[in-house]
Amino acid sequence: MAKKNQNPHLNPESFRDALATVKEDGKRNWVYPKKVSGYFYRYRTYLSWVLLAILFAGPFIQVNGRPYMLFNIFERKFIIFGAAFWPQDTHLLIFLLLIFFVFIILFTVVFGRVWCGWACPQTLFMEMVFRKIEYLIEGDANQQRTLNESPWNAEKVIKKGLKISVFALISLMIGHLVMAYLIGIDQVKEIVSKPPTENMAGFIGLVAFSGIFMLVFSWFREQACLVVCPYGRLQGVLLDNNSINVLYDYVRGEPRTPIRKNEVAPAPKGDCIDCGLCVQVCPTGIDIRNGTQMECVSCTACIDACDEVMIKVDRPVGLIRYASENSIKQGFQKLLTGRVKGYTLVLFVLVAAFIALIATREDLEGTITRFPGMTYQQREAGMVSNLYNITLINKTFEPQRVDIKAMAEGMKVEIVGATEWVLEPQTKFEGRFFLVRDQSSVKIPQEKVMLQLFSEGREFDEIQTNFMAPVGVKK
Ligand code: SF4
Ligand code: SF4
Repeated sequence: MAKKNQNPHLNPESFRDALATVKEDGKRNWVYPKKVSGYFYRYRTYLSWVLLAILFAGPFIQVNGRPYMLFNIFERKFIIFGAAFWPQDTHLLIFLLLIFFVFIILFTVVFGRVWCGWACPQTLFMEMVFRKIEYLIEGDANQQRTLNESPWNAEKVIKKGLKISVFALISLMIGHLVMAYLIGIDQVKEIVSKPPTENMAGFIGLVAFSGIFMLVFSWFREQACLVVCPYGRLQGVLLDNNSINVLYDYVRGEPRTPIRKNEVAPAPKGDCIDCGLCVQVCPTGIDIRNGTQMECVSCTACIDACDEVMIKVDRPVGLIRYASENSIKQGFQKLLTGRVKGYTLVLFVLVAAFIALIATREDLEGTITRFPGMTYQQREAGMVSNLYNITLINKTFEPQRVDIKAMAEGMKVEIVGATEWVLEPQTKFEGRFFLVRDQSSVKIPQEKVMLQLFSEGREFDEIQTNFMAPVGVKK
């Protein structure tokens, strides 16, 4: 008869017949991961404090009165590390996203899902905040299971009520945090300090985000990683046999054999004693001994659990560890594979192109178009003019005075409705102007004219346009 949880190389597909989080009747199989402690858990906890502090401090960091980080998708305005990006900078944002994706791919090819286990906000909040509170209020896995299965009594009401209240409070904090990254901390302060009716959209946003986080961390949980996160689903194409991941050393561990009391002359065995602790601590409910699985978020809980067991049974730790399939099977680790070199090259090219684009990016931008439906206007004293629309964008955080000059001899610029253009910080301006010249100097009916745009005396753009006028008409 086939043994349960066999070496994946002997029975490689058996674990694929069922999902750990779905019962045979199709209902959710609630995962009660056992509390874990150990080397990796300790350092993940320390790192989570640092990352959570950075995450919560982010919206409060301001440089010269403006946010250091802002992702205002509603107004399509982004501030990343203090630098403002406008819709006109979409190509830069696309480059930034591409760099981010290639970096993630490269990192995943080499180090697997380290991001998921150590830095992903979902894991950070779930395992390092909500789960810890749950352990504190309801106890370890078995106590939680017993409490859930027990009828409603005073203890259950108090524990569940307390847990829901604390979860709701933290979800509210996360909801406000996300809104602060989206619309800025000052806006959030305004929303919370005034009646909801004065900013209904903002209020709905705060409530919706808080509600979503409450739902995710109290109920949806590991399903976010298993069925929603696209990164998790990409693992099948990103990982290869040289990727470092949380892996079970089946060469050392198999054949797994439980330790029995009073066992005399034991047969040659693998190091796995089949205690099942690595499965009990897994927040996604899987058995890492079945090999790399999409559900594994590299949280290292099974490493800590197994190391504890190995110490108890006086065997070397690391039966489950960070390793690659090849390092386990063949005993050596190759990091610089062809794939890694290829992705590294692409990453370097993208970063170089991005740096070049940033270096040549202007904080002021202008667009000039001819006024639609008009050719030219003949004026008094033998002058002729053309009308233009101009759009100016000030991406800086200071006001900017903009001047315009035509590079054609004898051509003047007449600004419509003003003597000069002064752009407020972080604004888009739309105006009109005439190009005017003596009709006797017109040589061709459609002449290309270069216009120079200056800000505070410094030229920031040169734009070509057409000047139309009848030829050969004398004064
Ligand atoms: S298999 Fe191990 S590393 Fe992967 S999710 Fe489960 S406990 Fe975490
Ligand atoms: S914790 Fe270690 S010894 Fe126990 S079942 Fe898992 S791999 Fe085997």
